[in-house]
Amino acid sequence: MQLPSVTGKAYGVFGLGKTGLAAARALHKSGADVYAWDDGDNARSTIEKHMPGVRCVPIEEWPWQHLQALVLSPGVPLTHPEPHPVVRRAHANDVACIGDIELLYRANPNATYIAITGTNGKSTTTSLIAHILQQAGRTIQVGGNLGIAALALDALGEGGVYVLELSSYQLELVASTRFHVAVWLNISPDHLDRHGSMEHYIAAKRHIFDRQTESDTAVIGVDDVDSHAVAQAQMVKEVPRVIPIAAHASLREGVQFQDGVVTNLFAPDKTIDLRNSRTLAGAHNGQNAAAAYAACMAIGLSHEAIAAGMESFPGLAHRMQWLGEIGKVGFVNDSKATNADAAEKALQSYRNIYWICGGVPKSGGIAALGGCMDRVRHAYLIGDARDAFAKTLDAFGVTYTQCHTLDVAVEHAAHDAAASADEAVVLLSPACASFDQFPNFEARGDRFIQCYTKIKTGGGDAASA
Ligand code: ADP
Repeated sequence: MQLPSVTGKAYGVFGLGKTGLAAARALHKSGADVYAWDDGDNARSTIEKHMPGVRCVPIEEWPWQHLQALVLSPGVPLTHPEPHPVVRRAHANDVACIGDIELLYRANPNATYIAITGTNGKSTTTSLIAHILQQAGRTIQVGGNLGIAALALDALGEGGVYVLELSSYQLELVASTRFHVAVWLNISPDHLDRHGSMEHYIAAKRHIFDRQTESDTAVIGVDDVDSHAVAQAQMVKEVPRVIPIAAHASLREGVQFQDGVVTNLFAPDKTIDLRNSRTLAGAHNGQNAAAAYAACMAIGLSHEAIAAGMESFPGLAHRMQWLGEIGKVGFVNDSKATNADAAEKALQSYRNIYWICGGVPKSGGIAALGGCMDRVRHAYLIGDARDAFAKTLDAFGVTYTQCHTLDVAVEHAAHDAAASADEAVVLLSPACASFDQFPNFEARGDRFIQCYTKIKTGGGDAASA
């Protein structure tokens, strides 16, 4: 992406992951004088090997008096637990700390911006909004915290729409960016180590509404107490327009999800029935769907266009991803469920579950999931957590098989589910991190898909069971 106003000016880029690399590349290609650094040797090697024009030197050697801005990666502490030395140096030299979203906005001032934040559901909602808009024929680019880094997206002019998933860290680094539609899904304690307290975490996310004007819209989920308070505070302001959305709370106006149906309360005959949706199953996805509805409505899409997009939404890999069926058994890849909270959402969305779980457990393990256990027919335990989870399942009265590896677990689960008289689901929703056996949750989910495909194409025991 070309960044028009940076030519001949000096910029610092700190943090050389996906975001920082894209920023360094875009700045360099646009003629800026780029100084880059990362505390990790590996992170610096891409710059050193592939971007020879970028000066990869320690921050002590940067020309701080001449820097236009410090482009900070979201992973670098801005305030908590304490500012990173690069941030202190920027403050001392009166250099603004900005993020990649700010540069994107400055370079594409005529595009429309839809930003999505929240503790959970960001990726699903971002993808769903992007899919609906694309199906409706809009020109879009989708990325940010999800998928493609902002400065690796294509440039967009008037009529183009950026659909951006934004973390609280990214929102702390927007300076002049105005979001035409700001979507706030929910908030619960998370990343408090980085934000210091719930108040700071909320304050960071609230930057999504900064600089919205009377023609803009704030879409706010009001199901949790903190988000409800945020909505109340936004509503007393004159701008922007607030559209509340909810999947649990009862609304008088806005977009409501209830009993599997999304209703536009501004025109209550406008409903979308998601009861048979494979890709938007569960009340948590109802919240995501209601938010996507409100966001698309805010930029002028018709009910019919939104409904068509929701119906054809293919879902997102590794998040309750419906892979297909073998006989009466459905296979669901929810590898992204790396904690009990996320696994609970999946367990609540199905019945007759043959549940594969385990990996590196989080504190509390699966002790909080007792309320969903009537849905589980049998569990298949893998990874480091298997002994601890076995104890909890004993206490719940749920039967299980110790499988150790995912491959063995899928074989057993598929076989047992196929032998059941009813429709059933083989669900990988591990409630654990993956790194005891896999590099990341994506690799774990991909392995599950391979196991499913092998059985489906006749290469495994269960296909004939
Ligand atoms: P994020 O990008 O915020 O991490 P995802 O869309 O990737 O969210 O979903 C991650 C997991 O969080 C899903 O597997 C699901 O279990 C859970 N989840 C999704 N949407 C919501 C929601 N609106 N509220 C609570 N949990 C959700």
